[in-house]
Amino acid sequence: MGAEIVNVSDSKDFLTEAYVTLATNDGYAVGALVLAHSLKSQGTTRQLCILVTTSVSETVRSVLSNVFNHVIIVDVFDSKDSAHLSLLKRPELGVTFTKLHCWTLTQFSKCVFLDADMLAMRNPDELFQYPELSAVADIGWPDCFNSGMFVYVPSKDTYERLLQHAEVTGSFDGGDQGLLNTFFTNWNRVSFVFNMVASVTYTYLPAYKKFGKDVKLVHFLGATKPWHQRYDAQSGTVRTQSGYEQLTPYLNAWWNIYINLVRPKLPEMDLREAARQSFATAAQLSERIGGLGLGESLLEGRARWERGQVEYTGRDSFDNIQAYIESRLKM
Ligand code: UDP
Ligand code: MN
Repeated sequence: MGAEIVNVSDSKDFLTEAYVTLATNDGYAVGALVLAHSLKSQGTTRQLCILVTTSVSETVRSVLSNVFNHVIIVDVFDSKDSAHLSLLKRPELGVTFTKLHCWTLTQFSKCVFLDADMLAMRNPDELFQYPELSAVADIGWPDCFNSGMFVYVPSKDTYERLLQHAEVTGSFDGGDQGLLNTFFTNWNRVSFVFNMVASVTYTYLPAYKKFGKDVKLVHFLGATKPWHQRYDAQSGTVRTQSGYEQLTPYLNAWWNIYINLVRPKLPEMDLREAARQSFATAAQLSERIGGLGLGESLLEGRARWERGQVEYTGRDSFDNIQAYIESRLKM
């Protein structure tokens, strides 16, 4: 009779290490469900945890609780903790403060935060061997890390220091990436395959041809998320918007999980409604920037940049970019 061999330290890690994501509305919650299924189907051994706000519908929250090991409700607007006070002073950092809550999950010894607009193509569990803060270089400014994926160690102390940093220093880009990059200045760089921004497959095709097969996590960064795309049920493929053709295999993988594993569990939910909600976020952003006279063109411009279609002499000229940066500094 052979005894079961269990590596004690490993089995402990499985229970005390977790992937953590965030959804503040049903659109991102759908993204989180697809992400969770993709991690499971690639064979992760770690716990799955999601932070949600009360603006995620109850139906969706109950579906989340069937897929994630932990669904944790955080609402910084209701809370009496110091995040609330910091938020009153820095209202522009709304979703960012919610994301910072991931440091309060001290029931785990180590976590990997993943944006809800990511998809696992292979098991990324080896990330847990890296220290805080490990991440992938941002493609826009590689001295900064992209905050769609980061390895971190939950700690109440770090959380409090981050809130203080948010209150005092703020964020140079208005989001969590700007805030975290000025806090964790000595970050550890890990391979791009752990946070591949799908659109760059187009701008650096030779590298993609060489390394693309090793991709573990794809990030659908930008204003156009997989749940905004059109799916053709007849052919079983996504009708990718013009200029985004290189994303097709990843969008198809996303939709395949959505159609087979997520949508059947969401009987009352209309994805178009969810998409409308997350578009509303983009619209709010556009409105905020629109007030400064740069609205629509900026969102379109971002999409073009991400597709690698930069208009060096036109809308993306240095003067326009400078005007935009200055307008953000004044906000
Ligand atoms: N997020 C959210 N609600 C929002 C905006 C963002 O829950 O209204 C969360 C979600 O997990 C998302 C992450 O914050 O993936 C970062 O936002 P997003 O992915 O849209 O930013 P990008 O990666 O495109 O810069
Ligand atoms: Mn993202």
